[in-house]
Amino acid sequence: MKSRTKVVVIGGGIAGCSTLYHLTQEGWSDVVLVERNELTSGTTWHSAAQVTNFGMNQTMVGLKSHSIRLYKELADDPDYPINYHHADGGIRLANTEAQMQGYRHFTSMARGMDVHFEVIDAEECARRHPLISTDNLVGGLWDPLDGDIDPAQLCQALARRARKAGAEVYRNTPVTGLVQHSDDTWTVQTEHGDIDCDIVVNACGYRVNEVGAMMGVQHPVASMEHQYFLTEEIAAIRDAGHRMPLLRCPISDYYCRQEKNGLLVGFYEQDCKTWGMDGIDPNFVNALCPDDLDRVTDVLEGAFARMPALMEVGIHTVVNGPITYTIDGAPLVGPIPGKRNAFCIIGLRAGLGEGGGHGWLLAQQIVHGEACYDTWCLDPRRFTGHANVELTALKAIEDYQNEFRFHFPHEHRPAGRPAKTTPLTPVLAAEGAEFTVVNGWERVDYIKPHPEFEPTLGFDFDESFDIVASEVQNVQTNVGLAEVNGFNRIEITGSDRHAFLDRVFCGTVTKREGRVGLGYLLNHHGMIKAEATVANLPASDRGPARVWYGSAAASEYHDMDWLDQHLRADEDVCLRSLTNDQTILVLAGPNARAVLAGCARGDWSADAFPWLSVRECFVGIAPATVMNLSFSGELAYEIHVPNSSLYAAYLALRQAGCVFDMRLFGARAVESMRMEKGFLHWKADLITEFDPYETGLARFVKPQKGDFIGREALVERREKGPSKCLVTLSVQTDQAPAHGGASVMQEGRVVGTVTSGEWGHRTGLNLAYAFVEPDCADIGTKHEIDMCGTRVEAMIIAPSPYDSQFERMQS
Ligand SMILES: Cc1cc2nc3c(=O)[nH]c(=O)nc-3n(C[C@H](O)[C@H](O)[C@H](O)COP(=O)(O)OP(=O)(O)OC[C@H]3O[C@@H](n4cnc5c(N)ncnc54)[C@H](O)[C@@H]3O)c2cc1C
Repeated sequence: MKSRTKVVVIGGGIAGCSTLYHLTQEGWSDVVLVERNELTSGTTWHSAAQVTNFGMNQTMVGLKSHSIRLYKELADDPDYPINYHHADGGIRLANTEAQMQGYRHFTSMARGMDVHFEVIDAEECARRHPLISTDNLVGGLWDPLDGDIDPAQLCQALARRARKAGAEVYRNTPVTGLVQHSDDTWTVQTEHGDIDCDIVVNACGYRVNEVGAMMGVQHPVASMEHQYFLTEEIAAIRDAGHRMPLLRCPISDYYCRQEKNGLLVGFYEQDCKTWGMDGIDPNFVNALCPDDLDRVTDVLEGAFARMPALMEVGIHTVVNGPITYTIDGAPLVGPIPGKRNAFCIIGLRAGLGEGGGHGWLLAQQIVHGEACYDTWCLDPRRFTGHANVELTALKAIEDYQNEFRFHFPHEHRPAGRPAKTTPLTPVLAAEGAEFTVVNGWERVDYIKPHPEFEPTLGFDFDESFDIVASEVQNVQTNVGLAEVNGFNRIEITGSDRHAFLDRVFCGTVTKREGRVGLGYLLNHHGMIKAEATVANLPASDRGPARVWYGSAAASEYHDMDWLDQHLRADEDVCLRSLTNDQTILVLAGPNARAVLAGCARGDWSADAFPWLSVRECFVGIAPATVMNLSFSGELAYEIHVPNSSLYAAYLALRQAGCVFDMRLFGARAVESMRMEKGFLHWKADLITEFDPYETGLARFVKPQKGDFIGREALVERREKGPSKCLVTLSVQTDQAPAHGGASVMQEGRVVGTVTSGEWGHRTGLNLAYAFVEPDCADIGTKHEIDMCGTRVEAMIIAPSPYDSQFERMQS
């Protein structure tokens, strides 16, 4: 066994084997995999191992396509062929029009990744799968490349190729401890000796938290028991002359694929069970949980009704094994929050289908610092303080029960709520607030007209349209108040704080006390990493001179990790998170100044406190830090208040607002207004796949200011010209917004992808942002957007169609 290597991957299931193989493909051969037993002795060996292309966003579709391409290549390898039923085809069933509409959206989205699904009616489903009845069936989504693979052969093939490229695999070598040194390198302790390395990767499946604990980390991953059975031979399958397509059923929660001449049927029962919550028997190796088919009776009935042939055939094997889940159903693939040189590839609930792609994206992140796709939907830092194992278990149960039922736009399921609240949450609930969830925070979406108000879930504009319109109108003509909780706030102190910020931002960072600026942070490839406001606060009785770095709520761990990693040892800079201590009250509209002046001493005139100013004060009796900043495009103030004083500040503002009949507004109104102003959302419009020039942010880049992170790569990219450009589109329908992922088409060809879409209530425009090819990015160019299967005309317009001179917010 080596005593030193570059990377140690812990765990020899599909996650570990794929990571090891892809590290060698990215050029690192001095890498090892350590497995406590034999390869695939965790969950992988007994997987149903279906391999589909279907995903909810382009990153998921892209990584699954990679799996399929790779598995096909492995299956076709004459030296070591593996069993892969490639392209049997698969149907995802639907019994409602709303599900069909969703499938049409996912088809539009996948086309942008050159993946081609088909939405078919019930008769066509039955024609392609002769065993199914069309009762209670509207249709389905057809994935032509669906199939299944031999999981053990797959892992052996990946390990074999990795070994040939120089990697080493140590079987029967349990990892017993992890020690990190002051230079951020690691020692991996095993039963057979220590291995020193630069980087560790946790790929330990359901034992993720045993190894997590060795580095002091509790990963938000929980296991569920999951069962399938295998039937005896079915004559209709034997005689069909072709393999049966796979089935996935959101109506009755089962899946089904051909196994030899019988079927493999797996269940997602409502009466489901977590597993291993209080520890896992160390001898649970190549093992299964006891069969429990009674638990799945309800689901079985649905499967029988759909496939009557099942009722006449015997069951010869039942498999019940642990399967891992996270809080949102997607795995955790990337850097471990708060740690250096530590990565994970865990929480895989469809690891055979996805594992090839996850290992590929993780290896790219380890070797190059970033992957070819934006990996935020997989990033372990997308969950923050609320993400404990208890919450994960609640969400895992909910997710398991809804395995094949995708989330509709604006849908937030109830398990594990509320996770993060402020003292105002119950107050706003009593005012009729409907809440959305942002990184666990309960944030006001809009104010309901009555407690029973519940809009229809779907892809069209829903019954909240007029409510949002009226909240926007109030902000435009009068004054509104909104709570923005969970906003990421990092306090930066120390004499080198501005030099540090100059290095991490690609533009000019304002250093003037009392002033606020907006800027962008790039990765080493010159792509957009983060967006933040920088507010310079003078020394006061609340602290020394300091910068408040503010960014999106979900970025709390992500941005802190990035800033922390780029601190130099000799720099006088201190970072402190205030995210959970402070909440913002946004006061917006032409009467905002008068309301603020009514409850906070001082001169708030445009001369004394102009746009992009910051000042400490008291709102009523509550200490507050006020910034003249606007996301709505109207005159607006962000009022930052410690949570202990939040209710007091709220009461003071409400009282001062009485004179103007001030009303509350929520996140949906903000979304509408920010699109009218051309403002962008982190991880919707601002992603690591594009640089600031492509994103239309040239005015925030100052290459001439000297060195900054990503400068060299950015200058090179600038010379090559853009791959895509972000544009604003006016969409010619009042039926529905364009949803993120939808394909933008020119003469039947995909030329771009929508990133955001919302109705602009002040402009009367249905607005969308999209990245499109540069030669069709000019203002006035007409495109079509594939909106849930309907081609809708959309024309490129100038950004910021509302108050394009930005006069109102500076008034
Ligand atoms: C019944 C069932 C059906 C499924 N069907 C499908 C399907 O159809 N399609 C699909 O894509 N997915 C399916 N899955 C899910 C899929 O099987 C898993 O997502 C995948 O196998 C997880 O792989 P892994 O490598 O993350 O974990 P594992 O396979 O569990 O591998 C983790 C490895 O880490 C090792 N390890 C743990 N601790 C240590 C230590 N201290 N030191 C060294 N090594 C250690 C373990 O021994 C193990 O080999 C199914 C799962 C189940 C249970």
